Amino acid sequence: MVHPLKIPHSRPTLSEDEAKAVVHVIGSGHIAQGDIVKQFENAVAEFIGVKYAAAVSSGTAALHLSLLALGIGPGHEVIIPSFVCTALLNAVNYTGAMPILADIDHLTYNLDPDDVAHKIGSKTRAIIVPHLFGMAADLERLCNMKIPVIEDCAQSIGGRYRGKQMGSFGDLGVLSFYATKVITTGEGGMVGSNSKEIIDKIKNFRDYDNRKDYQIRYNYKMTNIQAAMGMVQLSKLNDFIHKRLKIAERYSNAFLNCGLKIPKMHRDHIFYRYVIETNKDIPQQIIALEKKGVDCSRPVYKPLHHYLKTGGFPNTDKAYEKALSIPIYPSLSEIEINQVIRSFQRIFN
Ligand SMILES: *Cc1c(COP(=O)(O)O)cnc(C)c1O
Repeated sequence: MVHPLKIPHSRPTLSEDEAKAVVHVIGSGHIAQGDIVKQFENAVAEFIGVKYAAAVSSGTAALHLSLLALGIGPGHEVIIPSFVCTALLNAVNYTGAMPILADIDHLTYNLDPDDVAHKIGSKTRAIIVPHLFGMAADLERLCNMKIPVIEDCAQSIGGRYRGKQMGSFGDLGVLSFYATKVITTGEGGMVGSNSKEIIDKIKNFRDYDNRKDYQIRYNYKMTNIQAAMGMVQLSKLNDFIHKRLKIAERYSNAFLNCGLKIPKMHRDHIFYRYVIETNKDIPQQIIALEKKGVDCSRPVYKPLHHYLKTGGFPNTDKAYEKALSIPIYPSLSEIEINQVIRSFQRIFN
């Protein structure tokens, strides 16, 4: 019997190029925050189409400093979706503001503008708008509520909305370069904005040393080593997205008769995640697929309102019950893609 490969749910796509860039920085002796970080900030700002950017140590740090740069703290409220990772909840709680959860639109898994409008009150100071799985949220409505918008592009760098890069619509746009994100620096993050004032504030907060005054600051810096990796990854981003779309197309064609709800190819989705829906029990399907060597998982580990033990998020509950995320990344080989497809056809046909 031929043993199937073990295909991880996610994996970074790295090569000799990143290794060489990192070795070069180490050889230079300037390994902490420096010129390469500035280069990476400029390159990302140009790519997204915003004037300024500040690199930080993670997506979570980027969210935290974005909230601080907007002057958010105790007594304020910030609207976030329930169907998302706890990084957003943490970032709001770091500031002492009150997180207010909103439900999603079940078609896009992104914030439901009607529910957001309903949750806005006199204390609301920001809406964090993730573009989950690489697909744009309803920016037209969400950016027109007279409340500052932080676009969370941790899963969607390179994705577009009406022809323009996501991350260029909100007052700020946040990126993550964690190992398994669209492009990676191991750990890392970035904030982009057209406001020099906002980016200056973020640069002030991320670095504590050699300051004339004292105020609470953080050590949220990115290193030149990370930025060198980031420059290489950014140069490959368009190719990465092209590969993701090709794999998504293969899956969608292969799964047509499997009785699954397959994602629509629309709104310049970059397929950070390929998420299907099934009426079968998700934990059981995860075990069945694992036996065939395919590591799948729920696309959101647990909705935030489950942690907070509150209710009133019917679309989030539905998505959580039905959604399953399948391996999709540029380094997925032909053999692995075929194994994923065969396993799904066996289990779901
Ligand atoms: C990964 C992620 C974050 C947090 O980024 P880290 O770099 O892991 O801190 C925030 N928001 C979304 C939507 C993410 O996917």
